[in-house]
Amino acid sequence: MGSLAGVQYCEMDKFCIPVLAGELSDPARVRSRSRAKPLCDKCAEADYRPGDIEILKHHKKLLAAAGALLDRKVAGTYEIIPTLVFAAFSDKDDVYAGIGEWIAATEASPDDEDWAYLFREFSLRFGSIRPKDSIGNVPVVWRPPLGVGLVQGNDDKPFEAVKIEVHEPVESRLVGAYYSEILELYGLSNERGRGDIRWASFGGSLHMVVRPEEDTILHPILKFTISDRRAQGAPFPHRADVAAEYEARRGQGYPKGRGGGESAKHYNAIPAVVAWYLSDRVLLEAGKEKRNINRLVKACLRGPRRGRIPELEKRWQPWRSLERILPRIKQTEFDLGLDTDLNNPYGWVHQTF
Ligand SMILES: [Zn+2]
Repeated sequence: MGSLAGVQYCEMDKFCIPVLAGELSDPARVRSRSRAKPLCDKCAEADYRPGDIEILKHHKKLLAAAGALLDRKVAGTYEIIPTLVFAAFSDKDDVYAGIGEWIAATEASPDDEDWAYLFREFSLRFGSIRPKDSIGNVPVVWRPPLGVGLVQGNDDKPFEAVKIEVHEPVESRLVGAYYSEILELYGLSNERGRGDIRWASFGGSLHMVVRPEEDTILHPILKFTISDRRAQGAPFPHRADVAAEYEARRGQGYPKGRGGGESAKHYNAIPAVVAWYLSDRVLLEAGKEKRNINRLVKACLRGPRRGRIPELEKRWQPWRSLERILPRIKQTEFDLGLDTDLNNPYGWVHQTF
């Protein structure tokens, strides 16, 4: 900010550390003896340098989202990555910013008509990415940590099984809810079934296959009418049984989580995604530019939280985490509409609502 009547304010503006820390609503004053450096004491202490604002001002929404996720202690990368990628898109493109405002202005409740409409429209366009809720003005979107699908049978047996893939540990209630949701969507019953639930673990994910009860077993005498009965849809196991089965597997340590033990911790994943966009989507090699981005990310994320989030002080390895999670960042960019074949400024593909 410029000077007014001899008073000079910190040039970091919205990124001034006391503003980010919630201590001031406007940037701090610059002490007169350090006027050559247009930064307040706290910003200088956080290792901001004059001119940093020129980079940060293009990433306002991304940095606000990163701060909100850190403050809320959001730990799941299936929530961290989509939320930050969406925020980075919103900094570049008003269409995304508008959708984000829509999410933030709508109460996240499955019973709310407006939310249901928003949820449907968003899901139709962005596939496996879904709106979740918001933290203040920051829209939170996520890739649900589980997927559910129907396995098709032959003509007289339209649906053979429900396949559930759980990629990261979730509450068993959620597994039951997704399971019954897909059955209801296809008009299938899960009220009284006694079927069969099997499971296996692949690449850190838990896979469950749920089948309806077999008429051959329950009603051997009706063997000749099996086809008719199956076409009407044999009942699937009750959602509570599926949830209980998942709960038992979770107790045994499944799923282990996507990427197993390699998965990044949130206090590294959040700075890692920020570093990716601050360096203009380049995985920087060791050198001056990388050190500079590292310093900037540290200053604006750790500076205002100094001492409040001890992990940020001790275990600062965002670049190592970035290499691990980069495939998932790129997958999310693709799902949200980044055309990876184009090389223009991020090559956004508009998804018009
Ligand atoms: Zn400042």
